[in-house]
Amino acid sequence: MLIKNGNVIIFEADDVKVKKVDIKIKDNIIEKIAEDIKPEENEEVIDATNKVVMPGLINTHAHIAMSIFRGTFEGCDLYTWLNQKIWPIEAKLTKEEVYNASRLSILEMISTGTTCVNDHYFFSEEIRKALTESKMRAVITRVLMDNDGKEASENRINEFINLYETRDKDNKLITYSVAPHGLYTCSGEVLAKARELAIKYNLPVHIHFLESINEVEDIKNLHGIRASEVLKKYFDGIHTILAHGVKLDDEDIEILKTMDCGISHNPLSNLRLGCKIADTTKYKQNGINVALGTDGQGSGNNLDMFEAMKMAALIQGGIHENEERLGSKDAIKMATINGAKLLGLEDKIGSIEEGKDADIIIVDIEPNLTNIKLIPNKDIISNLVYNTDGKNVETTIINGEVLMEKRKFKYLQPEKIIEKFIAF
Ligand SMILES: [Zn+2]
Repeated sequence: MLIKNGNVIIFEADDVKVKKVDIKIKDNIIEKIAEDIKPEENEEVIDATNKVVMPGLINTHAHIAMSIFRGTFEGCDLYTWLNQKIWPIEAKLTKEEVYNASRLSILEMISTGTTCVNDHYFFSEEIRKALTESKMRAVITRVLMDNDGKEASENRINEFINLYETRDKDNKLITYSVAPHGLYTCSGEVLAKARELAIKYNLPVHIHFLESINEVEDIKNLHGIRASEVLKKYFDGIHTILAHGVKLDDEDIEILKTMDCGISHNPLSNLRLGCKIADTTKYKQNGINVALGTDGQGSGNNLDMFEAMKMAALIQGGIHENEERLGSKDAIKMATINGAKLLGLEDKIGSIEEGKDADIIIVDIEPNLTNIKLIPNKDIISNLVYNTDGKNVETTIINGEVLMEKRKFKYLQPEKIIEKFIAF
């Protein structure tokens, strides 16, 4: 397959550039990137004239089945939202609901350009089934916690082990993480178990970390030391994905710098739950990898990573004046290569580079009425972040397979997925 005539987003050293090059994909791999590649006989050619061709977006923190909570419970803080709104409903969810909700989210992701998602949920077999059928790339898990007793906790651990042990070893698109819910919902016993599983199976850890102000004291009360010290105690030497990281002070940053970890920044969810703004500019200046996530739709509204990019870039202007702060180029890297690094997948995905797996999206920037916000298009990168959204994504390719072309899906039937939620 050949993608011709596109404006291709390429990372060079620290910079983000737009180049007029063609991309040749053989099997599932990006084989060649060069100017004016001639198609072979019978080769499939995608004409990307007036399009942006960019790495597939990587959502580093989501709860796939939470599409059922979209638009609910506005105005709560995190603890009220979890304890009084979300957890009581989640306790009654059925496998079928999780499967259908996951399919709705997968449709949302593929149609808005996300090619890889890092999930954090339960009923994980249903989620895996929905992902596998859709040929979506994902990191999945079974969330662990023990704030509701020992027996429930042990069941969760066993469910995780069963999920991992029953994996299809030939399916390279689905990988796994060990996921304690958070340091305020897990005792030292569960965290030690999570460490043991991460080492045994050689998996990263994926955990909510300092999302809200209440956690700072609660974690200290539960574990006797500050949150970042708890993190270091249990996960030092293990690659750790920290969801949120809003409430880090300078001491926390110094501790995180000594660890193999990075942050999944979820700006929309943080604002909706009144968690304030993570200082990602400062984290970057301190050499901490910051990637991007949406969280579940119950708090983050949607899984559109273009909205997350726009918000991640703009929101820094809410806490930094007249100084160097993250901008549109940073946002693109956060949604792609930084995400791949955070998930430990940078050898395979995150950039358009020869030898990497072909996870690529094509974004419509044609100068017409639909794209009036993009005219004149003097700065493609700026326009991409501030003036497009997921609806501009025309084609989504995962692992060399075109899953959506000109907004028509290869495997998913949108009407069938959507109809389950019309009278929901
Ligand atoms: Zn979350």
